[in-house]
Amino acid sequence: MKYKVVKFGGSNLKDSQGIKKVVKAIRNYNQPLVIVVSAFYGVTNNLIDAIQLAKDDKLNADDFVHAIGTQKINTMLELVSNKQLTLEFKCELDKRLHKLKSYLLGISFIKDVPPFLYDEILSYGERLSSLLLVHVLKSEGIDCSEALPEDLGLITDGEFGNATVNFKLSAENLNQKLSNDKTYIIPGFYGISDEGKTTLLGRGGSDYSASAIAACLHAQSLDLWKDVPGFLSADPRIVDDAVVVESLTYAEAAELAYFGSKILHPRTPEPLAKKNIPIRIFNIENVNGELKPATIINGEETITEKVIKSVSYSDDFGILKLLGSGVGVKPGILAKSTSELDNAGINIKSIITSQTTINILLSQKDLYKAKSILEKKDIQGISEIEVCNDISLIAAVGEGLTTQYGIAGRMFSAVARRGINIQIISFGASPVAVYFIVNKKDRNETISEIHNDFFVYENCCERCI
Ligand code: ASP
Ligand code: MG
Repeated sequence: MKYKVVKFGGSNLKDSQGIKKVVKAIRNYNQPLVIVVSAFYGVTNNLIDAIQLAKDDKLNADDFVHAIGTQKINTMLELVSNKQLTLEFKCELDKRLHKLKSYLLGISFIKDVPPFLYDEILSYGERLSSLLLVHVLKSEGIDCSEALPEDLGLITDGEFGNATVNFKLSAENLNQKLSNDKTYIIPGFYGISDEGKTTLLGRGGSDYSASAIAACLHAQSLDLWKDVPGFLSADPRIVDDAVVVESLTYAEAAELAYFGSKILHPRTPEPLAKKNIPIRIFNIENVNGELKPATIINGEETITEKVIKSVSYSDDFGILKLLGSGVGVKPGILAKSTSELDNAGINIKSIITSQTTINILLSQKDLYKAKSILEKKDIQGISEIEVCNDISLIAAVGEGLTTQYGIAGRMFSAVARRGINIQIISFGASPVAVYFIVNKKDRNETISEIHNDFFVYENCCERCI
């Protein structure tokens, strides 16, 4: 029988109450599972802060490690009464905390953070979660073991901070190491380089770990347990009547994740799409009773009546505008500019060009750095470089969006009705998404207007419109 890979995130792992729900969810399956876990809520951020403090020689490593350990021990004691298991847990916890402390002390000592050490330290959030969960599950009588990525051979390309899984090697290793009559708990968020170094899979990367593991094992499904009702048609903080989207294609889910939807890491769908393994999203609050996913992501392309399935946004975009009358005709300007940014490790999110302007969409944090790099290079043909900030990128996603007549027109008319100015539109670059840029101050109104037009007004009387 094929495994199901099941992932629990930090929002499921806050305290003993949260872990009780996790145990219930696991019990619901009634079969051995491969379980991937994130760090406890907030722990990765705490580790990042601790590294910075250690570098500035301001960290009390004893206190820091003690606080993390106390959280884990208290949670364990609230859940498990078996003395032997508690003892085993404490013993292994001490070992891991001792290592963590030594790494932090090392940073204080050398006042520097080598990338390999940064990745190693950050992986401790997940390593402590898996250690705790395996002991809790054992106390519940579930036959399980912890399986660390280094022992399994979850191999990456070795890039620190943002590694990619080597599927070929990892699949061979994982299929050899995991027998399918037992439950395994694997810490997410990291894999191992060829040289055996811990390499992180990017922030929020435990979804991607779980997806990579599911792909390697040819799993039946990847089940992601969240503390939200599923993928929604819009952010419920902006739109009161957002509805759950019951099914999405891999491409739709990837676009939504990339353009701001927090529910899924953008790299999650890709490994599974190739093998047609469904991603099922569950709400941990509905853990009682039958296993009914809130949203299913698979390869079935469905064009719904509304066409648009969800509208999401991201504020983490800025535009670097390269201006010059020749940018559209002079060869090489785009290549030179992008390779300079690439050399500086700056990730380009998108590019939209015209005859006189190249608009490079970047993360906020890279915007001014990119500007100064290109200004220094003084590339022939670019006469001016401007930065455009305070913007939001809105993405409307749905299969059929770029092929069905009138959908984009309807969407932009809805926005225009509110007198909102759209700065840039990208239509057709992705077959399932249209994205455009508005001033940040107009973001919420833009989203509600589109959402109203497609999801609400058609159910109302004419006066509402
Ligand atoms: N703990 C890691 C992070 O906060 C990975 C994850 O939660 O997915 O980025
Ligand atoms: Mg997470």
